Amino acid sequence: MATIELFNTLGGKTEPLTPVGGPALRMYCCGPTVYDYGHIGNFRTFLHVDVLRRFVRQQGIPVNHVMNITDVDDKIIRNAAAAGVPIAQYTARYERAFFEDLDALNIEHPEHFSRATGCIPEMVTLIEKLAAKDIAYKTEDGSWYFRIARFPEYGKLSKKDFDGIEDGARVDVDEYEKDAARDFALWKAVKPGEQSWDTPLGTGRPGWHIECSAMATKLLGDDIDLHAGGEDLMFPHHENEIAQSESASGNPFVRHWMHVRFLLVEGRKMSKSEGNFYTLRDLLLKGYRASAIRFLLISVPYRNQMNFTFDSLTESTNAVDRLRTFHQRMLKDGFAEGLNADIAAATAKAEQDYTAALANDLNTAEARAAIFDLVRAANSAADAGSLRAENATQILRVLALFDGVFAVLEDRDAAITRAALAWAEVEGRIDEAAPELVATLSFSDADIDALVAERTQAKKTRNFARADAIRNDLLAKGILIEDSKDGVRWKRK
Ligand code: AMP
Ligand code: ZN
Repeated sequence: MATIELFNTLGGKTEPLTPVGGPALRMYCCGPTVYDYGHIGNFRTFLHVDVLRRFVRQQGIPVNHVMNITDVDDKIIRNAAAAGVPIAQYTARYERAFFEDLDALNIEHPEHFSRATGCIPEMVTLIEKLAAKDIAYKTEDGSWYFRIARFPEYGKLSKKDFDGIEDGARVDVDEYEKDAARDFALWKAVKPGEQSWDTPLGTGRPGWHIECSAMATKLLGDDIDLHAGGEDLMFPHHENEIAQSESASGNPFVRHWMHVRFLLVEGRKMSKSEGNFYTLRDLLLKGYRASAIRFLLISVPYRNQMNFTFDSLTESTNAVDRLRTFHQRMLKDGFAEGLNADIAAATAKAEQDYTAALANDLNTAEARAAIFDLVRAANSAADAGSLRAENATQILRVLALFDGVFAVLEDRDAAITRAALAWAEVEGRIDEAAPELVATLSFSDADIDALVAERTQAKKTRNFARADAIRNDLLAKGILIEDSKDGVRWKRK
């Protein structure tokens, strides 16, 4: 088993990643704020965390992975109020969409999901602990703030120098860009029309930062192996998490901090006003395949700047096709008995290079290159008639290893695209879909059979989100699934 070296933002250098205090790696990843559909930048981060957890497990280390769902924050409150609905109703559809998107991208589910609104008592307890140490203080309006002057190490993660902190200067919004630090909100007093909770702290709602500190500690303890998120979260979110958690427990909060570099689109920061903002669903409606999107977003190592372009997405589609075709070729019988020694050596080298690349700070680009070197060598040998049956067996084993992390060999693309089209139809967005895709909307019986089989399989693997998504998507097309003791039947309504 290889030692996994991973860059640690805290120490500013690459360090071995090892679980401490138990066999499993206890890891926390800041999850989505469910106020909108996930965009490809969000998924770049979640995909690289997926690469990490898959590779860690491949190296024999179990993981205990927590992802939070931020279902109350400034943005959610603002949007739900604009839509005139309670926040739970507002967030439910985006949470469901997030799970569907995770499944479309073949992102493994963490061991635990945790909704912020399900952990209010833990947040209150944490703030009370800070208040008992006079690190949290209440203002006249009934909000609570963290006194950063009481945490001298503030800035140690983002390497910001906060000399001359002005004691008592405050900021009450969750996201802020500040050169100088400010006391930040732990608990926000209720405002007219806002959802609130009655607690010993007063009536109000939590700040964003306390949510993650409380959920991480509740599920993983107060001494966590790894914490991950996009680079934008380093300051102030993660800095504030550290301040809250370490002040409360007296322990280091997290040993290893992993930050995924931001995704650019066509060379620019992705933004709605720039017209270069894409959700996963936008790309599926344009006709790009989920597997190609996954493969592209993970092929650039997480610490490198990644520039998303449509040319690179087309290249990624071709790469996945090539890999699948090669896989099929190796699966087909018909190679003569025996072993080609050169190809056996190339296979062993590919395996070694693949493992070494991922163990070296998750260098996905090199891992991918190692496998494509093998594809090239083995295809040439097969063309020349010199590949042997034993080579195919060895190659299939290495491909399975590679696919344990890259996870693109199984072809679920058509079903995912169909589900996206059915969603677009329900949402009144079908005019955004590429015309050739819309033609596939008229499901044949065989298509329905395939989806029903996929749902049965999803239920077997306890992937209920996917199973429900398939049922709902078929329902939206007027196709009803009936579970009976004789098996599953479907009928058109
Ligand atoms: P949010 O839903 O905004 O809280 O973000 C969810 C995750 O996506 C966080 O870890 C963010 O840091 C990450 N993220 C947001 N935008 C990007 C981007 N352009 N590139 C990479 N990660 C991002
Ligand atoms: Zn967080």
